[in-house]
Amino acid sequence: MSHPERLARAAGDLASSGLDAMIVAPSPDLSWLIGYDPPPLERLTALVVRPGTDPVLVVPELERALAADATAGSPTDLIGWRDGEDPYEIVADLTGGASRVALADRTWASHTLALQRAVPTARFEATSEALPSLRAIKDDAEVDELASAGHGADTAFSAIVREPFAGRTERQIAAGLAHLLREHGHREVTFTIVGSGPNGASPHHEATDRVIGPGDAVVLDFGGRVPAGYCSDITRTVHVGEASADVAEVHAIVLAAQQAAFDAAGPGVPAEDVDRAARAVIESAGYGERFVHRTGHGIGLEEHEPPYIVSGNATPLQAGMCFSIEPGVYLENRFGVRIEDIVVVTDDGARRLNKAPRELLRVD
Ligand code: ZN
Ligand code: ZN
Ligand code: ZN
Repeated sequence: MSHPERLARAAGDLASSGLDAMIVAPSPDLSWLIGYDPPPLERLTALVVRPGTDPVLVVPELERALAADATAGSPTDLIGWRDGEDPYEIVADLTGGASRVALADRTWASHTLALQRAVPTARFEATSEALPSLRAIKDDAEVDELASAGHGADTAFSAIVREPFAGRTERQIAAGLAHLLREHGHREVTFTIVGSGPNGASPHHEATDRVIGPGDAVVLDFGGRVPAGYCSDITRTVHVGEASADVAEVHAIVLAAQQAAFDAAGPGVPAEDVDRAARAVIESAGYGERFVHRTGHGIGLEEHEPPYIVSGNATPLQAGMCFSIEPGVYLENRFGVRIEDIVVVTDDGARRLNKAPRELLRVD
């Protein structure tokens, strides 16, 4: 979808959701809508989108040329403001009298508070809540980017498990993964979780200097961004040497839960039903209390974005939505197991964008 098509869809979504305007500060929303991706700064840059009229980008005068280049070919009008002028008043003029306004989630508090003062009639809502489907349904080109990110992450995993783990620290494995991601199509590495032995029981564990040894289960959860900005995110749990019966049992349960969630995913299915499918498997195996997080999150230009695969989210899935399925079981002081793939909803089910083997791999 071209940027003008995205803008048109956003304006249509605004109208059908009863919103008067959307104000988009520098964020993934802005780069998705108009292809302009400046860093967020104290000077206000904000795209104002309203139904039935062309969008306007309010931009510091000294960045007007940059913005004009980036938005060439899009119907966006530019209004430059100079230091000493009040950019919030410009936005207020554009949105005057608005009663509901969606504001990009990543808008700085300083801008948010000033906008609230400038447009006192409006109730401001986070875009992820007011328009959760804005970027959630990916077109084919976006799915291709996510698939290529997934392929790079798969390849990094296949390469790291050929290296010895025993005797190396978590940090060394994490550095190896970061290097491999860059080697396989990523321009940026966003996280490399390596949780060995008891550290695996902490889902967002940061790699430490713990030396990995025989008998350790190791949770590897890592991802980054390909040049077009789309993210990868994969988790596999491996074992150093022969796996104990405990680790093998828990791994088999998590694998079955991951598969059950995948089998449940499809168009029209409420997001929470996918969560429930994974949770039912883990609960019936007696580990329900040890599955301490939601089953997944949407992914795109952000690592975590709607749709969230969580109890309470009844949003029906639609073809083109991309999200993670990542159940886990965490046994304090012992080990953890998590298995994560990114999937895309298709016309009749779902397709995995990660192809790396999910079974419990033995590493040396
Ligand atoms: Zn996570
Ligand atoms: Zn992950
Ligand atoms: Zn994830």
